Amino acid sequence: MTQYPTLHMIIDGEKVSGGGRRTFSVVNPATAETIGELPLAEAADLDRALETAEKGFAIWRKSSPQERSAVLQGAADLLVQRQDDIAHIASMEQGKPVAEARIEVMMSVNLFKFYAGEVFRLYGRELVRPAGTRSTVRHEPVGPVAAFAPWNFPIGNCGRKLGAPIAAGCSVIMKAAEETPGSALAVVQCLLDAGLPKEVAQAVFGVPDEVSRHLLASPITRKLSFTGSTVVGKHLMKLAADNMLRTTMELGGHGPVLVFDDVDVDHVLDVAVPGKTRNCGQVCVSPTRFIVQEDVFERFRDGFIARMEATKVGNGQEEGTQMGPMANPRRPEAMDRLIGNAKEKGAKLGTGGERIGNQGYFYAPTVLSEVPLDADIMSEEPFGPVALINPYRGEEEMIAEANRLPYALAAYSWTNDYQRQHRLADQIEAGMVGINSHMIGAADSPFGGVKWSGHGSEDGPEGVLACMVTKAVHEG
Ligand code: NAD
Repeated sequence: MTQYPTLHMIIDGEKVSGGGRRTFSVVNPATAETIGELPLAEAADLDRALETAEKGFAIWRKSSPQERSAVLQGAADLLVQRQDDIAHIASMEQGKPVAEARIEVMMSVNLFKFYAGEVFRLYGRELVRPAGTRSTVRHEPVGPVAAFAPWNFPIGNCGRKLGAPIAAGCSVIMKAAEETPGSALAVVQCLLDAGLPKEVAQAVFGVPDEVSRHLLASPITRKLSFTGSTVVGKHLMKLAADNMLRTTMELGGHGPVLVFDDVDVDHVLDVAVPGKTRNCGQVCVSPTRFIVQEDVFERFRDGFIARMEATKVGNGQEEGTQMGPMANPRRPEAMDRLIGNAKEKGAKLGTGGERIGNQGYFYAPTVLSEVPLDADIMSEEPFGPVALINPYRGEEEMIAEANRLPYALAAYSWTNDYQRQHRLADQIEAGMVGINSHMIGAADSPFGGVKWSGHGSEDGPEGVLACMVTKAVHEG
């Protein structure tokens, strides 16, 4: 049986802990019991990580694509070997079912494998010039990256934060969420064990505001990569502006799902409901606002309620659990607040709307319908297992509702009218659009949002290029 690991930081290849440092108690969200004590960085730790990252960049920028490819492929192989252990660690500290955590390990495996090939394709170009002269456009690694990964995908987010800089030839200091450090350390360790020089990737934890201010103000840091809420993202962008850092920002969403009356309603529900309960709804691309054409509204809502009520909620470590607890006490509090406000405004509660049991952070799968637009939950990301289902007359109105918010990360639509499919692809404002599909992420495809959902992409060739700068060289 997997034991929860002893926690530490990884600075210059050394496991750093103790020494009178402050600590953070890591809790199992299914039981609210403390499972580990995490050391937090002092300013001297961050300075040491920065100096090491500077050395790491000097080493790694000169590495050959073969070296980078071998490390990424090797780390992918180690992740597969350690998949079960890592999945259990993630489930213990984050709450999600082990089966979901196993899939998350594969997310990083697939990304590392894709980047192991992509490192050979970071082409520049040569411009047409008179004989005897030459002009070339090159991509070069941007420099040391300060990367901040959240707790909702403790393995997959870390794979993204580490994979792209390493493929590009950068060094990286990653501060993953203090609530889920065990998974982050496991991913870093796979890279180090696969031969990554110890100076290239480091893991620090700390008081988030202290760490981000320190790393982003340093002249050594050249890029900020952040995944988390829009509020924190805006704050970090302001800090990054003072140091003119490049930024990749993966922020919040409020996923609209347009369901037209020409679809097989049961099929859409069979896809949408597990999509909603996945990771207890704590997913930036979670389907949230169901915008349903009025002729199928009642069938859709009732089918949604029945399937949500049939979802098996429990400890993520137990076989057969379909939905675990929420990851931390802030989430059920936010759900109570948002659902309470929606009911006050006149929304109808179809099912759920309350916590389950008296230990851990469990919340019942919830359906609200006919939710007024002025309810907070219609414009604030709920980040929980709640579906908002409202009826609409037709296409124009439905697209307007999908585009109403400043968030524009992922959007989904279901229709068998192929001309409408084209219109939706054109008119929906989002970084990713699923048409008759909920699969909107893949290792080779850019993942990211527009508007307040952020900018820049992770995954795909775009993810590596986001860790590179362009240089034009003109030789006379
Ligand atoms: P939060 O806004 O306090 O934190 C969000 C993330 O940012 C966390 O990982 C946190 O460790 C980090 N963070 C916070 N302050 C920071 C700082 N000053 N410097 C660096 N990092 C900092 O909220 P939370 O309670 O952890 O999460 C709630 C909200 O965050 C959710 O409602 C959701 O909107 C958003 N969120 C989004 C994603 C995503 O995948 N886009 C992931 C996690 C959380």
